[in-house]
Amino acid sequence: MILPPATLGMLGGGQLGRFFVAAAHEMGYRVWVLDPDPHSPAALLADRHLRAAYDDHAALDQLAQACAAISTEFENVPAGTLDYLAKFVVVHPSAAAVSVCQNRIAEKDFLRDNRLPHARCATVLDEQQLRQASDELFPGILKVARFGYDGKGQAVVADRPQAIAAFQHFKGESCVLEQQLRLDSEVSVVLARDQAGAVRCFPVAENSHRRGILDVSLVPARTTAALHARAAGLATTIAERLAYIGTLAVEFFVVDGELLINEMAPRPHNSGHYTLDACITSQFEQQVRALCGLPLGDPRAHSAAAMVNLLGDLWYANGVAGQHYREPDWSSLYACPGLKLHLYGKHHARPGRKMGHFTVLAGDLESARDIALAARAAIGISDAP
Ligand code: ATP
Ligand code: MG
Repeated sequence: MILPPATLGMLGGGQLGRFFVAAAHEMGYRVWVLDPDPHSPAALLADRHLRAAYDDHAALDQLAQACAAISTEFENVPAGTLDYLAKFVVVHPSAAAVSVCQNRIAEKDFLRDNRLPHARCATVLDEQQLRQASDELFPGILKVARFGYDGKGQAVVADRPQAIAAFQHFKGESCVLEQQLRLDSEVSVVLARDQAGAVRCFPVAENSHRRGILDVSLVPARTTAALHARAAGLATTIAERLAYIGTLAVEFFVVDGELLINEMAPRPHNSGHYTLDACITSQFEQQVRALCGLPLGDPRAHSAAAMVNLLGDLWYANGVAGQHYREPDWSSLYACPGLKLHLYGKHHARPGRKMGHFTVLAGDLESARDIALAARAAIGISDAP
């Protein structure tokens, strides 16, 4: 076991890293953050900020020397970086697990090889593969294999000619083409797995998106208990097959009452932010515990929860980029007793950028949802969730 006051390392300095730092500090650890961004929100809290690229070996050496264990909050950390650090220090999750989750082609291959349910899809490395792709895949969604997030690097394509045009627009980058599904809903499972293989799943979240970005998460998801159990089972199988250690998120589509795995994130997840306020142990404390070899905490929720994301649009008058920039008036949120507001301390708001979130806690989901949606409207998010 790595015990406090040991120093832990975090690769990536966004809001997920910031919550990791806060959880680790609360437990008595010190944390160094490596992130090239001088305004990294996690680095603002960290004991030390190494402002360097993820492949800067001098900085990695410094990190490895200072830290007893290192984790990541960012799936695009080069797998080579994790492998390099693992020669000197404990690193979780492993490069092998992260490299499956950071490339949609590797991810789909993993799902197929393990006979895990997912949407029909095809690998697209060149135009020829698009010309040969099955007709069943249209209408579809063409997704770049790497570096996509929040719906970026995706195009809905009605037919083959549109898919070829989109592939050219992505400059021939490797892609996957997925059948476009009619979704009943979307759910996710965040879990933690420790070195001995013990797994603790958080309650299932039901997620809705706005313009490709997570908007609202409701917990517990309004699906059957059987579906909850099946989602937790599939997420556990994925963690086991990846020999995963740490906090892992699995996103699912619900189609005709059945679960299809959308994607995995080798880190805490936006849809698990509710665990900060609604669960006995948060997804970030669980990440620290798994990394340090401590027993996992109790993931149970003590309240129903509704989480709402706060995007940079709110910083602009009428939500329009280029218009007057000002801090939103948070007073309506502070006035709401069961509401917990989290702001990430980001340097500058851009439309679509995740700047904060709030979670409403209540005895039942319907009340939490009603209060959260009223608060969401009061702060100025006008379109329906
Ligand atoms: P994030 O970073 O928010 O997880 P992402 O950029 O990694 O997003 P996906 O999770 O693949 O992208 O897709 C984003 C959203 O687009 C999904 O949550 C879903 O709402 C919609 N979507 C993606 N693929 C499909 C599909 N095959 N059929 C229908 N809807 C889809
Ligand atoms: Mg996603």
